Amino acid sequence: MSHLFEHNGAEGRGYNQPPPIVGADKLRFPAGLVRKSLPKWPRISEPEMVRHYTWLSSRNFGIDTGFYPLGSCTMKHNPRVNEVIAQLPGIADIHPLQPEHHIQGTLSIFHEMQDMLAICAGMDSVTLQPVAGAQGEFTAIRCIQEYFRSNGELNRTKVIVPDSAHGTNPASAAMAGFEIIEIPSKEDGRIDLEALRAVVGDDTAAMMITNPSTLGVFEPEIAEAADIVHQAGGQMYYDGANFNAILGRTSPGLMGFDAVHYNLHKTFSQPHGGGGPGSGPIGVKAHLAEYLPGPMVKRRPILPDDKLSNVNVEWWYTWHTPENSIGKVQQWHGNSGAVIRCWAYYRRYGKELKTMSEHAVLNANYLRHRIMEEAKVAGVRHLFEDGAPVEVVKHEFTLSLGPLKEERGVGAMDIAKGLLDKGYMAPTVYFPLIVPECMMVEPTETESKEVLDEFAKNFVEVLQEDPDVLHEAPTSTPVRRVDEVYAARNLTLSYPFEEE
Ligand SMILES: *Cc1c(COP(=O)(O)O)cnc(C)c1O
Repeated sequence: MSHLFEHNGAEGRGYNQPPPIVGADKLRFPAGLVRKSLPKWPRISEPEMVRHYTWLSSRNFGIDTGFYPLGSCTMKHNPRVNEVIAQLPGIADIHPLQPEHHIQGTLSIFHEMQDMLAICAGMDSVTLQPVAGAQGEFTAIRCIQEYFRSNGELNRTKVIVPDSAHGTNPASAAMAGFEIIEIPSKEDGRIDLEALRAVVGDDTAAMMITNPSTLGVFEPEIAEAADIVHQAGGQMYYDGANFNAILGRTSPGLMGFDAVHYNLHKTFSQPHGGGGPGSGPIGVKAHLAEYLPGPMVKRRPILPDDKLSNVNVEWWYTWHTPENSIGKVQQWHGNSGAVIRCWAYYRRYGKELKTMSEHAVLNANYLRHRIMEEAKVAGVRHLFEDGAPVEVVKHEFTLSLGPLKEERGVGAMDIAKGLLDKGYMAPTVYFPLIVPECMMVEPTETESKEVLDEFAKNFVEVLQEDPDVLHEAPTSTPVRRVDEVYAARNLTLSYPFEEE
């Protein structure tokens, strides 16, 4: 029985509703909105429902069931202390419209989070509103747009992105109405300053870039790139999705950036996957702060009139929206559950964040070398070449399976599917687009040497697998190989009840 609606078991209700606050007889709905027939609720008892959902959950793959080296996504372990804190009643049971004097604790958490994020990125002001990295990009780009509009610089209509950029960068800038100028990377995948110089001008609004890049390599010339863009009067935007590689070591502020988004769900261990739930705060330098979306939290020393008689606190916290704000980008106060979890993580591990990023980098380099070594021993060295021709990577690395594809007709997708049969989540494939038959691997700091060794061994076994077997893979998963284009274009989002 794969679907709740297909159950026709015991008569009963798997869930007991509390009695309605307002009786049905007191409600008046326009006739057109009233149901003509009863909803088609499944006939299911509580034990059947429990079994159904438990069964469904066991068919999912997640970070709690296995290694999840999905490059660019930073699928790290979510320390359970985050969950304990997020579910404390004083935090979980409040309503967004509660008056400020009821929620001083939550406001202080938000305030601390704003401060902490500003410090670790070298920024002056942070808003927690956006709920995804992509939304953070759009928000920051809109702030930059308002900044130029209020300076009367309406000519700044272009946003520069390197060809290795994450797809959301050009998409966010285009959504805000900018024209996208793509610049090619150098042979080694790094930013080409000559190409940058050739395109900057008085029509440049911003450059969007991530460092380390989507190839997992650090851009040593980033400060110079920032100078070039600033001299032309443009702004520098830092895609902070790769923060896990540099946290505590350097910061976008030091590299010369004006604005940054954070992926709390990547760097700060908020669990995520399948599109959510996320949080993508942005930080900006002082000159952009007045455009940030509210509400943000600010504080002032507590006054005798503030009347929290039994609590001895120093500060009074309030919501506020900056003067020339671009407006809200999300309902209520952003994704507060994600913010709270990240705050819990930061309070628990704050002093070790530098070690965290160092271990993420160490794990990526270790795994990369293990895969290379294993491949050599197995005699398949010539079947793939390293996509990133550098000795040391940051928190992730790319492999090009171009030669394997040519020689044996086995591409990155086949290897990815073969890995599923070994019980792993596949690495990211075909991104960044500039690497042929690309696989992008990000182990994160929360995996042990044992896990990495085992993965390297299995990875090479899959490389050596019979191509015919790989073309058919996966064979052990609940769903076999799907037609991805069809699956993306023809979504089935509701249960197809038979018409009566
Ligand atoms: C994940 C990611 C984003 C977008 O973040 P979302 O939270 O998924 O919207 C942007 N840039 C890079 C490099 C990323 O890895």
